[in-house]
Amino acid sequence: MRLRNISGSREIIAASEYVIHEPELKKGTIKKLFGNNNPLYIEIGMGKGKFIMESAKLHPDINYIGIEKYSSVLLRAIQKMEERELPNVKFIRMDAEDITEIFEDGEVDKIYLNFSDPWPKDRHAKRRLPSREFLKRYDRILNKEGKLEFKTDNRELFDFALEELEPAGWEAETVTFDLHHDPTLMEGNIMTEYEEKFSAKGNPICKYIINRQ
Ligand code: SAM
Repeated sequence: MRLRNISGSREIIAASEYVIHEPELKKGTIKKLFGNNNPLYIEIGMGKGKFIMESAKLHPDINYIGIEKYSSVLLRAIQKMEERELPNVKFIRMDAEDITEIFEDGEVDKIYLNFSDPWPKDRHAKRRLPSREFLKRYDRILNKEGKLEFKTDNRELFDFALEELEPAGWEAETVTFDLHHDPTLMEGNIMTEYEEKFSAKGNPICKYIINRQ
């Protein structure tokens, strides 16, 4: 949590060309910023951006947006982009709760949630990024054929996420409780920072791919 208080991170973010700022940060403008019609994939809660930047390097024909709530964490992603600029990646500093205010309905082609914060207390369930409240928001911004992919080593959060699907009108296309021992699903798997950390400790990684019913 120390990282959240780096002084000057807000100023650095405000001046960064890699970050989408006001007045562009509104419906109807974001996709145009890439200057092409390529599909748009977003990661919500991207942390320091390892996953999204490696994905973007491998898939230059896809546009990526990484969304992160905390300036001090986003700052790390900006620093990485300075080392290896990628034209198909942009960042947004925001709370994902407001996501329907900046993306148009159906504008996004894929959503990634990686190692989302578990919010273990029941009263905080609505804050969990795979909760039904968030699934409703994703339902609006994701195009009808779009998919959402979620990875975590937190079995309780994963079980919760699976239970949220039906009430929210989603269904699982793929589910694994041990991604790293599934050769088919591991094809093209890009490790996130947390995935590296927790799989090194021997934790199995759960993953689902979901779509609308
Ligand atoms: N996705 C990265 C990974 O797998 O290595 C980072 C995982 S980290 C545990 C979760 C990240 O999600 C944190 O950086 C946190 O600040 C961010 N986050 C949590 N809730 C968020 C929200 N409501 N909106 C945007 N970012 C959020």
